[in-house]
Amino acid sequence: MPLRTQQAYATYLRQFLAHDVDITCPVCHKKAVVKTGGYRQGSPLETQVKAVCPSCGFAKRYEDVPPTPLYATANGIKYGRITTLGGPIDPFFQLPLWYQDDFEGETLWAYNLEHLHFLQQHLAAGLRERHKVANANASLGSRLPKWMLAKRNREALLKKMDAMEKR
Ligand SMILES: [Zn+2]
Repeated sequence: MPLRTQQAYATYLRQFLAHDVDITCPVCHKKAVVKTGGYRQGSPLETQVKAVCPSCGFAKRYEDVPPTPLYATANGIKYGRITTLGGPIDPFFQLPLWYQDDFEGETLWAYNLEHLHFLQQHLAAGLRERHKVANANASLGSRLPKWMLAKRNREALLKKMDAMEKR
């Protein structure tokens, strides 16, 4: 992916981190959550991010994830916490997302219901009429992977997403 496209895709994904991220608990494999507290990258609030499981009590704080070296400056090495965007894992702890499924060798995934609903709306709008999508959503949606936007996949993907939503 060209760098500019990558950055646009990251911006598109980051907006869904304003909501909590649903994950599979690494201990009991039930539904757990990463509380993002309206996450903003680099904000002091980022340390308040935490993963919690209501079923077994698993809990992990982002604060406890050790910062890693990001880049060198004249005054030394700059440390920070890296978020991993763009895969079926949460960006903070790299735990598996609750909403994910295989689709023809690709992985369909969403951070939370807000993200899943966005994908559903975008694909459903594409099925009805290509130009009826509101501009803002259209530009966000155009950053989705090609296989997700392929017309021939849309109906099957929407079925998968309906099933996913009911997990
Ligand atoms: Zn658990």
